[in-house]
Amino acid sequence: MAIDFLYPDYEVVRNPSRCIACRVCERQCANEVHSYDAELNCMVSDESKCVNCHRCVSLCPTRALKIVKTDHTFKENANWTGETISEVYRQAGSGGVLLSSMGNPKPLPIYWDKMLINASQVTNPSIDPLREPMETKVFLGKKPGCVERGEDGKLRNNLTPQLELAVPVMFSAMSYGSISYNAHESLARAAQALGTYYNTGEGGLHEDFYQYGKNTIVQVASGRFGVHKDYLEAGAAIEIKMGQGAKPGIGGHLPGAKIVGDVSRTRMIPEGSDAISPAPHHDIYSIEDLRQLVYSLKEATEYKKPVIVKIAAVHNVAAIASGIARSGADIIAIDGFRGGTGAAPTRIRDNVGIPIELALASVDQRLREEGIRGNVSLVVGGSIRSSADIIKAVALGADAVYIATSALLALGCHLCRSCHQGKCNWGIATQRPELVRRLNPNVGYQRLVNLVTAWNHEIKEMMGGMGINSIEALKGNRLMLRGVGLTDRELSILGIQHAGE
Ligand code: SF4
Ligand code: SF4
Repeated sequence: MAIDFLYPDYEVVRNPSRCIACRVCERQCANEVHSYDAELNCMVSDESKCVNCHRCVSLCPTRALKIVKTDHTFKENANWTGETISEVYRQAGSGGVLLSSMGNPKPLPIYWDKMLINASQVTNPSIDPLREPMETKVFLGKKPGCVERGEDGKLRNNLTPQLELAVPVMFSAMSYGSISYNAHESLARAAQALGTYYNTGEGGLHEDFYQYGKNTIVQVASGRFGVHKDYLEAGAAIEIKMGQGAKPGIGGHLPGAKIVGDVSRTRMIPEGSDAISPAPHHDIYSIEDLRQLVYSLKEATEYKKPVIVKIAAVHNVAAIASGIARSGADIIAIDGFRGGTGAAPTRIRDNVGIPIELALASVDQRLREEGIRGNVSLVVGGSIRSSADIIKAVALGADAVYIATSALLALGCHLCRSCHQGKCNWGIATQRPELVRRLNPNVGYQRLVNLVTAWNHEIKEMMGGMGINSIEALKGNRLMLRGVGLTDRELSILGIQHAGE
């Protein structure tokens, strides 16, 4: 029906003087944008199918292709943008919820970019990280309020189980099913090589990856997919997922088309059936209920593993975190509103939740004020884009960060935000064998190691510049940050001063 016709968002520009009709783009595009027209003896494009993933652009041997945003437009209207009008047409045609993937792309404030880092001058010398030891190792878990010694004068070491990270970075939860086997293998091997952890997400743990258990966080989500005793015992820590930054307050939905073969076996659900995780855990309606699950998991694993509770950053996050810190959990993971996802309703992804920077600052402050900051470690995620973001997160009070989108970028993701369609041309967010093969885990794991190693070098450089030689000394050290272009209210929530003060 003509009323439903929408001009494609992108246009494929093919330079005819360069194109040799080798048909690489046709073979590489799972969205079937490119084809060879024998009558015209040239390549043609169906731009309505293009998601702008750049696979064809990257592999075209003659650099004949580029993708541009269309300049076709509706009449200018600051209120009714072309995107908004198109979404109304799409919903009027389908009657369905709009779906999206990856993080919130709206131009809301990015507080990381409004905070600047201090450097030493004259009286407080900087440290040269090439010549002096710099400690980026962190331990996550409950810390004692004071140092205790026995009658023999020796330190009493009765710490609850801790996670030891050589770098203050972990790979955030991404389930096998939402991402491919090869993507999971890349993450698992990189976590092992870096001395950190990756996270199974809510899809269970493939039997091949039990060997990486010492570097694995196993997740227990509301659907309990793939959760059994061996699974709990396999990981170094257990994460209870109460919420996710991209879709706070709702459950998960992995379409039946992605529940095939190994994914179905690992999740312990039949092939082709949709994996729908309920919005709440049906056994958790209070902090006391959460405490029961925390201790059930500890009991099941003989109190040998720390338990993480993951929540989305929402309006009253500080009060929620305060409750969790008293529930017996060892680590709280907070996921900001820009956190990625394999699939989420667009309206929820773009309108629910709060920025991780504000959530982190208010949680750290609240736990300090209540004298329970040492009860838990704080891990934050939701669009950590660089080593500078990590430094700022630690200075605001984080013990470590979770990364996911940047990890997928390292694996080749081009942020086309089409993961929910299951046709990821880069072999990441797909289960189609011919696409999964495109991601070589030997290359993928090395690129992840490179990324985190590079960031760790930069973290050491920046800490040295501040005259600080350990992550522990930087943690919650808000004097190392200054705000620019922020209101008094924003500065007060972040607990930092304005530049120039
Ligand atoms: S990959 Fe490049 S050269 Fe080959 S057919 Fe496509 S546009 Fe032409
Ligand atoms: S993982 Fe694949 S489908 Fe998802 S945003 Fe990245 S390139 Fe696109």
